[in-house]
Amino acid sequence: MKRVTILGATGSVGSSTLDLIERTPERFEVVALTANSDVDKLAAAAIRTKAKVAVVADPACLEALRERLAGTGTEARAGAEAVCDAARLGVDWTMASIVGTAGLKPVMAALEAGGIVALANKEALVSAGEVMMAAAQAHGTTLLPVDSEHNAVFQCLDRTAPKGVSRIILTASGGPFRRTSIEDMRAITPKQAVAHPNWSMGAKISVDSATMMNKGLELIEAYHLFPVRADQLDVIVHAQSVIHSMVEYVDGSVLAQLGSPDMRTPIAFALAWPERMETPCERLDLAKIARLDFEAPDYTRFPALQLARDALTAGGARPAILNAANEVAVAAFLAGRVAFLEIAAIVADTLSRYDPAAPDSLDAVLAVDAEARVRAVERVKDCVV
Ligand code: NAD
Ligand code: MG
Repeated sequence: MKRVTILGATGSVGSSTLDLIERTPERFEVVALTANSDVDKLAAAAIRTKAKVAVVADPACLEALRERLAGTGTEARAGAEAVCDAARLGVDWTMASIVGTAGLKPVMAALEAGGIVALANKEALVSAGEVMMAAAQAHGTTLLPVDSEHNAVFQCLDRTAPKGVSRIILTASGGPFRRTSIEDMRAITPKQAVAHPNWSMGAKISVDSATMMNKGLELIEAYHLFPVRADQLDVIVHAQSVIHSMVEYVDGSVLAQLGSPDMRTPIAFALAWPERMETPCERLDLAKIARLDFEAPDYTRFPALQLARDALTAGGARPAILNAANEVAVAAFLAGRVAFLEIAAIVADTLSRYDPAAPDSLDAVLAVDAEARVRAVERVKDCVV
């Protein structure tokens, strides 16, 4: 029996993880499930999986959670600190699938607790890559990438011969606006932006895919996960999302991982690692797919990708500022307060107005994040939709 905890159990990745676990309940013991405020979904999952603990980050939801779980044997807890405590219970396997900076402290708590941490929360590596990787190393924790591109690279990478790797090539679907002119991009609505052509995901990452900031965040994520320099990381647009990423070796060989666009495949890889487990994911019918297309990314229509690349090259506090400003801008866009093209502009302006020293601890990263948010919020106020 593998003892597992899911941080962000009510989200898109969290639900896919539960789906896999619930197909083979005899192999897993669910210890803790956490959510922000979706009491109904959290309580239902806790009851189905007989979780020991269920935690809502929003303290105002505690009473409702207690009521739902009364007499079930699952303990109800609440608050941001309780989410971190849930991450410290010392399980074999933790899924880190909280979205955004809210996941940083819980991810750190899980890394310090040890075992295997399956990481979906890419923002943790973007903002705090150095401190997160150092914590994993110091506590002997195995970090397995769940982001489909990084999971693909993990599967293709020969860890025993890092010098043989010449390039890591992340594939990008290009999102829903791959063919949209910059003029038409001005009028993009939140509803259009969250409708991803290939993947079903949470709202924030869907908007990130639409601006291609997601691929930029993934460049930074890959830099921390794999033994390569920033200039060895490339992006190629591949609209079908069949190849999930590639590793090029010095001899010219390129290894790719393919599969249908279903997060349950990379989640299952992390869940069973180092073994494999069955999934209900659709098998690839390559004859039906018939062709795979590739094109270079357009940095003019998708400036967020360039901003992320520059933040990666500059290092220090830049990726944390990029990430914080992007979270503010995406939330403002989803709330109808700023236009689609303003998202990258808000991030660029925040980066140009704030340049603190490199943070050397999680608290220092969170301080940079907080200050960047204040500045990004100010910038949002200047926008008229
Ligand atoms: P989502 O919005 O569907 O779910 C987010 C989860 O985080 C929910 O359970 C929510 O309750 C929880 N949460 C939100 N705010 C919180 C807070 N303040 N405190 C505690 N918990 C909070 O998001 P998602 O699409 O599942 O993505 C989760 C993470 O995985 C993101 O970092 C995303 O970039 C990454 N990711 C997602 C996918 C995907 O297919 N959805 C693919 C690759 C990577
Ligand atoms: Mg991805």
